[in-house]
Amino acid sequence: AAEAFRNSGWAVPSPKRRGEVLRDIAQRIRAQAEELATLEARNVGKPIDDARWEINAGARCFDYYAHLASQPSGETIPVANGGLDYTLRVPVGVVAAIVPWNFPFLMAAWKVGPALAAGCSVVLKPASLTPLTALALGKIAHEAGIPAGVFSVIAGRGDQIGDHLVSHAQVRKIAFTGETVTGARILRLAADDIKRVSLELGGKSPNVIFADADIEAAAAAAPSAVFGNTGQDCCARSRIFVERPAYAKFLEAFVEATKKQVIGDPLNAKTQIGPLVSAKQRQRTEQYVEYAKEEGGRIVYGGTRPTEKGYYLTPAIVDGLANSSRVCREEIFGPLACVIPFDGEQEAIALANDT
Ligand code: NAP
Repeated sequence: AAEAFRNSGWAVPSPKRRGEVLRDIAQRIRAQAEELATLEARNVGKPIDDARWEINAGARCFDYYAHLASQPSGETIPVANGGLDYTLRVPVGVVAAIVPWNFPFLMAAWKVGPALAAGCSVVLKPASLTPLTALALGKIAHEAGIPAGVFSVIAGRGDQIGDHLVSHAQVRKIAFTGETVTGARILRLAADDIKRVSLELGGKSPNVIFADADIEAAAAAAPSAVFGNTGQDCCARSRIFVERPAYAKFLEAFVEATKKQVIGDPLNAKTQIGPLVSAKQRQRTEQYVEYAKEEGGRIVYGGTRPTEKGYYLTPAIVDGLANSSRVCREEIFGPLACVIPFDGEQEAIALANDT
C-alpha cells in the first residue's frame, strides 16, 4: 500500500480521475446489487431486504465521495510583512480500515470511499465472521480501475493481524468501527507514533416516549428501532423510556407489535428478524437475559430459542430494571430491550444521557 501510494499515481492531484473511478465503483455495485445482497444476507444472517438497503447505501456512499473528491481546498491566510501563508490538502498516506460484522459492506464503504477520494491507499480488514462482501468490494474496485496496492482487503483475525496493522510505521491513519475495548487498545497502540485515528464505538441508545405521544404509533415503530439487524446495531434503541401515565399502554402495545415481527430465514422476503451472527453472540444475549432476572427484572416477552436450527432468539422485552442495572448500562448487541418509566421531561433527559 505504501509503495502504491508513492508510485501508482492515485495520490497525485487528479480529483477528476478519482471521482470517475469512484462513480464507476458505485455503478458496478448497483449492477450486481442483488448478488451482493444475497451474499451479505448469507454473510451476516440479516434479512434480504435489509441487505438490499445496505448494498444500495454502499453504492450511494461511493457516489457521494466521487463528488467530494474535487471539493477539499486549502486556505490563504493574511500575514504581516508581505509573507504568503497558505494550506494545501494532501492525502495522508496508508489508511488501515478495520470494520465489524454487523453492517460489513456499508461500514467498508464508509471507510474506503472517503480515503480513496482523498488519494490515500487503503488496507481493509473485515471482521473474521464476515469477510465475503468486503472481498467482493475489493474485486469491484479493481475492475473499476483502482491501481493494484491502492486498495487491498486482508481477511484474518483481529487479534493476530490487527495489532500489526495498527502498529505498522507505514500506516498513517486508522479508521476503526467496533467495540469500545478494542477501540481503546487501538488508540493506545496508535499513540506511540501519533497516528491519526477515527473510532466509531458502542452505544446504549434511548427511545423516549412522552404520555402525549401517539402511543400506538410509537409502539409500532419501537420493535424495528431496537430489534432491527437482530439488535446487532450500535444505535439500537435498547433503553425505552416511557412517561409513567402511558407506561402500561405502551408496554402492552410494544409486546403485541414485537410478536408480529416475522422471525425466519434471511433469504425469505417476509423475514424481519434473522438469526444472530454466531452461537457466541446468541449466548451473550442469553446471558444478559439471565442478568436481567438476577437483577430483579421481569421478562415480559421472549428471550428464548424459537427453533433449534440456526442462532435464533425471540426478541426479549424486560421491565422492572433500574437504568443503573448492568443490562441497562452495557451494550448487548442482541435482541433485548429494557422498558423504564419516567416522570417528566427533566428525568427523561437525565436518564437518556446517563450511559
Ligand atoms: P470488535 O470485536 O471490536 O471487532 C471489530 C473489528 O476489529 C473486527 O474486524 C475485529 O477482527 C477487529 N479487531 C479485533 N481485535 C483487534 C485488535 N486487537 N486490533 C485491531 N483490530 C481488532 O467488534 P465487533 O464485535 O466485531 O462489533 C461489534 C461492536 O461494534 C459493537 O460494540 C458495536 O457497537 C460496534 N459498532 C459500532 C458502530 C458505530 O457506528 N459506532 C457500528 C457498528 C458496530 P475480528 O473479527 O477478527 O475479531
